[in-house]
Amino acid sequence: MSSVTVYDATLRDGMQGEGMSLSPEERVRVAHVLDGLGVHLVEAGFPDSNPNDAEVFALLERETFATAQIAAFGMTRRRDLRADEDPALRLLAGSFAPVCTIVGKTWTLHLEKVVRVDREDNLRMIADSVAFLVGEGKRVVYDAEHFFEGFRADPAYALTCVRAAADAGAENVTLCDTNGASLPSQVAAAVRDVRSALCPGVAIGIHCHDDAGVGVANSIAAVEEGAVLVQGTLNGYGERCGNANLVSIVPNLQLKLGYDCLPADRLAGLTEAARYVDELLNRAPDPDQPYVGKNAFAHKGGLHIAGVNADPATFEHIDPAAVGNSRELLISELAGRGTVLARAADAGVELDPDAAAEVVERVKELEHRGFQFEAADGSFDLLLRRETGGYEPLFRLESWRVIAEKREDGRVQTEATIKIWIDGRRFVRTAEGNGPVHALDRALRDAIGETYPHLRDIKLVNYKVRILDEWKATGATTRVLLDASDGTATWGAIGVHENVIEASWDALVDSLEAGMLPGRAGHARIAGARPA
Ligand SMILES: [Zn+2]
Repeated sequence: MSSVTVYDATLRDGMQGEGMSLSPEERVRVAHVLDGLGVHLVEAGFPDSNPNDAEVFALLERETFATAQIAAFGMTRRRDLRADEDPALRLLAGSFAPVCTIVGKTWTLHLEKVVRVDREDNLRMIADSVAFLVGEGKRVVYDAEHFFEGFRADPAYALTCVRAAADAGAENVTLCDTNGASLPSQVAAAVRDVRSALCPGVAIGIHCHDDAGVGVANSIAAVEEGAVLVQGTLNGYGERCGNANLVSIVPNLQLKLGYDCLPADRLAGLTEAARYVDELLNRAPDPDQPYVGKNAFAHKGGLHIAGVNADPATFEHIDPAAVGNSRELLISELAGRGTVLARAADAGVELDPDAAAEVVERVKELEHRGFQFEAADGSFDLLLRRETGGYEPLFRLESWRVIAEKREDGRVQTEATIKIWIDGRRFVRTAEGNGPVHALDRALRDAIGETYPHLRDIKLVNYKVRILDEWKATGATTRVLLDASDGTATWGAIGVHENVIEASWDALVDSLEAGMLPGRAGHARIAGARPA
């Protein structure tokens, strides 16, 4: 079985995406998550382009990784300096990272219009830079920027560029679709040509972007034509439309095409890793993401559910457990008692068939009123327990009150007061917030946080309001969906009411109560991710 080197660029190319920000300590945690998956190469950035990156390298140097090797990133030497005099290349040479990835020009359009370097000079810059780093004992990956456009414009010159890198000792020449402009057939044809033009020993890599929506497909096409290194980022983070998504590429190569990418037992950590890094970046995980999304193996139609129960292969393209995901059976009027029983078993609640029938009736009634439990798994778990008796709520509400005040100067202030009882003790708390839900959330956490300290780890990550019967205008019913997370697991909660604050309150209480259910409270942290 051929093996493929997995090269992750989340910490460098991935961080070019909009709104991407991680502290140096968080970057080290991401490196450990990647190492936990068995990723071979982790590109950590340029050792000194800013104080943040410099600190990342200082921290990484002290860490030990099981499989991952750190790659430092830089570019070919300046045209007016020798490689060994170029300050940036000297920094790469002096870095602890055993691998250096350097990017260089391939496309004549860029030589003419952007950097104004002549063709021969460019070849010397590539060769000198690679040779210098190899001479300093580094393993070098040469990243051929704009390779595919360059190859379409002038195939002979583009090949000369990658040959210059290979001849100078680069262990891999990675063909980069920098603008994300290419299509799978073009990538496949180019990789085939490069392979036949270079000496058989030269290893080829692929580095794609998703501008045409085919970053994953392009990466796979290149590997099928003989690329042995595949570069991408977790969840496809990256500038513009993102980099090629390793979270899709790896299971495609490994489970469908039989390539050896990550150790088989590690692939099952993929879902948790993908969601964990999303949370670290404060991004709500995409529920529809292939392989790892919450909905990736969700079945709604009654017929589909019956099929999956008979044989999962009827409606599932892989076994969800292979990537650490699970079959999410959606609750809806279409699904009957079987679904409820399956969900109850998942949630660790024992239901007899009569109780299951009652839950189905209750769900139908609530769905009729505007509830929808598909995105509100936390509320559904609570509903199962409330319907079957024996559920102890965290507290008893006496009252809450919200005051929103707009002043003459335009400032709006919100204050919430809640009165609740826990174990016979009365708690009265007031808090301010930037809106009614925020103020209620703060007052409630203040009141119950001392009894239930785990609640302090739970964050609200998403708040969505939808008007259900719009024709009633301001008298309409409002549905609020809240997602909460403890940094590892994410669950949804729902509230429905004519009053948006009451709907939000119900969702808020469910999100916290669901976070305290057995199995969620104190959820085990991801393997390999150390607290900073
Ligand atoms: Zn890139």
